[in-house]
Amino acid sequence: METPNPEAILGTCSFCGETVADRHVLIQYEKESGDQGVWAECPECLEVVDPASQSRI
Ligand SMILES: [Zn+2]
Repeated sequence: METPNPEAILGTCSFCGETVADRHVLIQYEKESGDQGVWAECPECLEVVDPASQSRI
């Protein structure tokens, strides 16, 4: 059985760069590609972000 890890790092906030972890996730959904996507609330700036899709910097 898969054990959820609330401290698992999902990525970083695209607004402030804060690390976003699994425990910050608000919504999980399945993308058209079949991948799992998430929306999470940044613990620093409280913006709702998609940490997994951040590829710019
Ligand atoms: Zn942020």
